[in-house]
Amino acid sequence: MHFCSSVRHSGFVQLPHPTTGDMFDSPVPPGSGWPGDPATAATAVAGSAAQVRRLASDATTLEQLDAEVSVCRACPRLVTWREEVAVTKRKSFADQPYWGRPAPGWGATRPRVMIVGLAPAAQGANRTGRIFTGDRSGDFLFAALHRTGLANQATSVDSADGLQLFDTRMAAAVRCAPPGNAPTPAERATCAPWLEAEWRMIVDDVRVVVALGGFAWRAAMDMVGTRPKPAPKFGHGATATLTTPHGEVTLLGCYHPSQQNTFTGRLTEAMLDDLFHTAKRLAAGNERTG
Ligand code: SF4
Repeated sequence: MHFCSSVRHSGFVQLPHPTTGDMFDSPVPPGSGWPGDPATAATAVAGSAAQVRRLASDATTLEQLDAEVSVCRACPRLVTWREEVAVTKRKSFADQPYWGRPAPGWGATRPRVMIVGLAPAAQGANRTGRIFTGDRSGDFLFAALHRTGLANQATSVDSADGLQLFDTRMAAAVRCAPPGNAPTPAERATCAPWLEAEWRMIVDDVRVVVALGGFAWRAAMDMVGTRPKPAPKFGHGATATLTTPHGEVTLLGCYHPSQQNTFTGRLTEAMLDDLFHTAKRLAAGNERTG
């Protein structure tokens, strides 16, 4: 029970985290106690594409990488948008603080399945701080991951909800919520080194990459660093074998669990369950030969 719904701090209105009740500014300052915040006030901040490339290539641990991703400010348009949304908010979330920062990769640190999406949702991960958390796409996705044994629970409400992924990690190709869900080609290119660095740290373990949508399909091939010729075509259930210096990885296409796809029946629960059962089976069976 919270007796005070908001307090003023440094000139801003602070609001309680929906689960912990701790008070936060919007956007959430790094290291201020937000559940799952990987950063501190001292975390290095990338302010340009060149700095993203340098920090991403110098990062030596997933923890360091996640922290640096979560404070990145290299894309001026996206920084403005994510912070503006964090202040204006959707009416139904007006009583909550918004993360308002990039959403880093999340899940197992030694995953066999890597799920790649496009970008955080403005009122979802941009609010909760965790990828796919707090929006309808995430509800659909995590329920399927739970049914197929890749998550400990079906719901994903906020970053303190106790959700865990089993042998699975997820990340967005672009880490900040873009206006209209459409990052520019330059923003995609600026953000790409974060995903490539993440891949470098999990490449020994991952056997299957699930790409949610056509953009993620291409981003996943760039992440792995190989594009077979002719380029494999994206589709739901499409597969491609990617050869890496560390062995083979299966790329598995999946329609994005956006409301556009789930409301129209283009992507059903059964289709998503089948796909993750396939991912699980391939992840268990794909032993490295290279
Ligand atoms: Fe940084 Fe990526 Fe966000 Fe651009 S989109 S500001 S590179 S985290």
